[in-house]
Amino acid sequence: MAPTREELKRMASEEIDRRGDEVIQVARAIGEHPEPGFREQRTAAVVSEWFRGFGIPYRDELAMTGVKGELRGGAGEGPTVAVIGELDSLVVPDHPNADTQTGAAHACGHHAQIGMMLATTVGLLASDVLPALKGRVVPFAIPAEEYIQIEYRHGLREQGKVEFLTGKAELLKLGEFDDVDIALITHTSSRPEDGDLVLAGSSNGMVAKMVTFIGRSSHAGAAPWRGINALNAAMVAIQAVHAQRETFHDEDTVRIHPIITKGGDAVSAVPAEVRLESFIRGRTLEAVRDATLKFDRSMRAGAMAIGAEARITTLPGYLPILNDQGLEDLYRPNAEALVGADRVTKAEHRTHSTDMGDLSNLMPVYHPNVRAAEGTGHGNDYVITDWDLGILTAAKAMAFTVIDLLADGADDANRVVAESKPPLTRDGYLSLMRSYMGEEVYAPEIV
Ligand SMILES: [Zn+2]
Ligand SMILES: [Zn+2]
Repeated sequence: MAPTREELKRMASEEIDRRGDEVIQVARAIGEHPEPGFREQRTAAVVSEWFRGFGIPYRDELAMTGVKGELRGGAGEGPTVAVIGELDSLVVPDHPNADTQTGAAHACGHHAQIGMMLATTVGLLASDVLPALKGRVVPFAIPAEEYIQIEYRHGLREQGKVEFLTGKAELLKLGEFDDVDIALITHTSSRPEDGDLVLAGSSNGMVAKMVTFIGRSSHAGAAPWRGINALNAAMVAIQAVHAQRETFHDEDTVRIHPIITKGGDAVSAVPAEVRLESFIRGRTLEAVRDATLKFDRSMRAGAMAIGAEARITTLPGYLPILNDQGLEDLYRPNAEALVGADRVTKAEHRTHSTDMGDLSNLMPVYHPNVRAAEGTGHGNDYVITDWDLGILTAAKAMAFTVIDLLADGADDANRVVAESKPPLTRDGYLSLMRSYMGEEVYAPEIV
């Protein structure tokens, strides 16, 4: 007689426990060698080697560094569930595990995500599990979730190496999700209000800006009147952004947070070129569009006031996430069985952004959290402190959900796909993203 779902879950759980130390060691080792997005060659090689060791067929160098494996269920053709882990780190030079050369650091816990992806795969490879599943499971290590180093990635774009600046957007464009029907991922969290496992909430969408202010250099002591101070133009522009904030609706959760990436060349010269980057985030695409108009106006105001030029580059960022209720209905009982119902909480709207949002506009996606970290997300003190929970328990919750989806003729996966109503097709997504790309040169008439 075919094993029941409960029996399959027990087998997967035992296998995850049996190989738990090994997987945790892999995640820890990745944590010691952080690499930011589209540069994760070493991390990707760890995943590839691991796939080879398990005899899992895979393709690599997808969107530069992505690695996509494939497990085929023994019960016939059927839907495909991707289990995703993100390869990339942030750059936080004073983080305890920062790379001393590059400043890269895993301050968002993506090394644990790779561990979860591997552990989920281990569980599904337990002897009798895969034969009972119908369809495919795709363990997928994906580059560049964090939207950082915009100038570097814009350079990759100009060299034709990528079109989009995050991994999932680029992989969507490349068609690497055309054969995926459902996607799961778990992010780590350190929020004190969270339970051990956190049911998914919504998150902001975002567009990115790169702005260059062009002035004119001159001796800053001897003849400042001959210069045009690009730094002053940038500062007026940033102040003008602040003056927009009272116009944003609270429920739109708009966040605009510019940084200056180049403030001048030499202290003795009037700054002739100053560069800034910013995100413009909001709960809806309409909110992002409204805030973007105000941001651009503010950049022009800075240029206008000082008589400088503003070159504004707009780049698509992330779409707001839409988590699938059908997937939550399967995930929740698994999470509750693993950690107890009182330790499962539900996230509401959160104001960060992720490119899982992009994916969620094209297919059913579920993106819960696991509270396995301490410190501040993206901060110099964000470290994984509970490896068993953060990797093994989180992986079990995903493995159990995959079993629910693909056991019993994959009826639940087929139902989830049939009931989900993703708003975009791939073509619609690509044209939406491309509609955000723009260059404007604002050169006011100087009088
Ligand atoms: Zn992050
Ligand atoms: Zn992250």
